[in-house]
Amino acid sequence: MSRGKRPKWMINIAIERMNILFERAELEFINHPERSDRYVELAKKLSTKYNTKIPEKWSRRYCKNCSKFLYPGHNCTVRLVNSEVNIFCSECGHVMKLPYRKEKKHKRRAKYESIKKRNDE
Ligand SMILES: [Zn+2]
Repeated sequence: MSRGKRPKWMINIAIERMNILFERAELEFINHPERSDRYVELAKKLSTKYNTKIPEKWSRRYCKNCSKFLYPGHNCTVRLVNSEVNIFCSECGHVMKLPYRKEKKHKRRAKYESIKKRNDE
């Protein structure tokens, strides 16, 4: 297949497939963790091939360093440190730091809107 931008419908299929792969990875993790890692690998390949980001829902469910599927309470620890989400991968010891900004912004906006609503009433 040639390089370059893919049509939208193709990207949508890629996203759908990534979702399916991660859902399966989650289901199989307890009994077959090696399968989960393989699914992550496949999803990452799709993401590169179609130049599409891994769905946000799943982007924190694999290690950016060793590409292993992460299952909180089994092979990773999730902590909230200084308004940052720290995901510690027990497989390779890598810590992923994700800013909590987005969620915060969302909350602030919700608060503002509720105040506005009250004033309008
Ligand atoms: Zn790792």
